[in-house]
Amino acid sequence: MPAIIDKITNALHSSDSTASSAPAFDPSKVTVIYVLGGPGAGKGTQSARLVSDFGFCHLSAGDLLRAEQNREGSEYGSLIRTHIKEGTVVPMEVTIKLLQNAMKAALQDKAADPLWANGRGLFLIDGFPRKMDQALKFDEDVCPSSLVLFYATTEEVMLGRLLERGKTSGREDDNVESIKKRFRTYNEQTMPVINHYKALNQVAEIDSSGTVEEVHDQTYKTISKLLAAKPHDGAAEAQA
Ligand code: UDP
Ligand code: MG
Repeated sequence: MPAIIDKITNALHSSDSTASSAPAFDPSKVTVIYVLGGPGAGKGTQSARLVSDFGFCHLSAGDLLRAEQNREGSEYGSLIRTHIKEGTVVPMEVTIKLLQNAMKAALQDKAADPLWANGRGLFLIDGFPRKMDQALKFDEDVCPSSLVLFYATTEEVMLGRLLERGKTSGREDDNVESIKKRFRTYNEQTMPVINHYKALNQVAEIDSSGTVEEVHDQTYKTISKLLAAKPHDGAAEAQA
């Protein structure tokens, strides 16, 4: 998929905003894949599989928010709790900061890993961006994304999975009332994000109604293709 490389390069050079500066991470070294889909679509489950397949660092925006909510002394605890329970989107500054800090930490921690040599990084950003403002801001300021892995299935399937998970997850939003609100937020705010990247030809849609194995097989093929097509480090310059 060399078109993706062009897109990243263009995105970097075509920024028309007034005081724009380079993103925090260099996209010729750091690969960012957004993992999207409704609540219960299978984002977290499939991301975990990709960590062992390809050496990604998996960052779940929801997990980072829950950790921040529970961190002693956090000024955002109650704000995050309210949004999660109501199924609404936490203001992007909070989430983007948490993601950026986690990326920086992972790049340092994994520097000795051969897959991560020379500042290279491979990130799956799960459950983010959920809203257009977050998408534009992250792509511009943090790191342009290469691909959206979009897990699509029906609300019926998602509801069943979430209620099953709710028996043991301890999550305050795995109950019918919160789930309905999460579906609404997903349809109204996250679908436009997916459509935005579809228009850029940057979405790999996977039907996630099947078993974990079936969905993983599809995902594995998609990611293998992407990584094979995306050169790293000096390779990008050598090709130009
Ligand atoms: N959330 C948010 N911004 C994000 C990601 C998550 O505000 O970028 C909040 C939102 O309230 C969401 C909740 O965290 O409903 C749970 O998100 P998570 O991704 O954990 O849920 P999942 O989709 O995996 O069920
Ligand atoms: Mg999740």
